Amino acid sequence: MKNFLRFSLLPAAALLLTACPSEKPAETASQPSATQAPAAPAFNADSAYAYTAKQVAFGPRVPNTPAHVACGNYLVTKLKTFGLSVREQPFEAMTFDGTQIKGRNIIAQYQPTAARRVALFAHWDTRPFADGETDKAKRKLPMDGASDGASAVAVAMEIIRTLSRQPEKMAPNVGVDVILVDAEDWGFDADRIDGQKNLLANNGDGWCLGSRYWAKNMVPPGYKAEYGILLDMVGAKDGRFTREGTSLAKARSVVDKIWNTAAKIGYSDYFLFKDTGAITDDHVYINEAGIPTVDIYDHPPFGGENVYFPAYHHTTADNMSIIDRKTMKAVGQTVMQVLYNE
Ligand SMILES: [Zn+2]
Repeated sequence: MKNFLRFSLLPAAALLLTACPSEKPAETASQPSATQAPAAPAFNADSAYAYTAKQVAFGPRVPNTPAHVACGNYLVTKLKTFGLSVREQPFEAMTFDGTQIKGRNIIAQYQPTAARRVALFAHWDTRPFADGETDKAKRKLPMDGASDGASAVAVAMEIIRTLSRQPEKMAPNVGVDVILVDAEDWGFDADRIDGQKNLLANNGDGWCLGSRYWAKNMVPPGYKAEYGILLDMVGAKDGRFTREGTSLAKARSVVDKIWNTAAKIGYSDYFLFKDTGAITDDHVYINEAGIPTVDIYDHPPFGGENVYFPAYHHTTADNMSIIDRKTMKAVGQTVMQVLYNE
């Protein structure tokens, strides 16, 4: 993913954002409070950590590589062991540099017949090159994508695993779908890719190819969800989650649900009541398809208006050494409680 409003954000709007940060939880009359709703089951961060490590151990999950195929097979098999209905959506797409790739989206459903549904999205591929490195010689190196990719898949998997283990009387009032999208991260970043052209320039920038395909060809067919939550980079030590621009514009009430819930259950150190600019990520295309969707992604809390991503983003530093169970716990437990508030 990348920032996209950096150059188009109006100065007036930028001023407004920085001058009026919302620092307190917004009171929402319509939302049931966490004290009225049943407490969600405990989110097991050790399990989420293990799922992260397992994906990283395959090697970089770059489309068209054996590691990518093997990790995809693992995700499908693992989700089936939870007793869930699992579907695969293969697709082909062209990346910005002209590579024709084979991708696959993976969809697992919990309580598939429930009328009210919430979708959890994460991308499972890794960026093919560490072009976020400041040292230009390192920008073609592969990267592990431990936080950017694996951690979010792991948190979504652990949530749906936990739900699948609940007795019927402890089930939430909504069905939950984990939708793992492929080929999010092979996009054109003009700031970082030296001397390369975006061959898709007339037709996009090559980011989010799996979610774009899914949004146009939904699986299951005719899919509907009340809202979606996209997880991206949710595993790093000292992870911080701000209220992202497109999420606020398209799904403000869901942003409020998530951030207020985090505050109520003690995770306001992670979920900051700070509004930040819009970025290109899978939620953009899912919102366009009519599902109001919020992006929970790691945004550095300080560093100025033009700093949208943490230092490890798209670098070789995004490996298991930065993964922290505490961050995954904060995100996983908050999202679980949001589901139990419904
Ligand atoms: Zn990325």
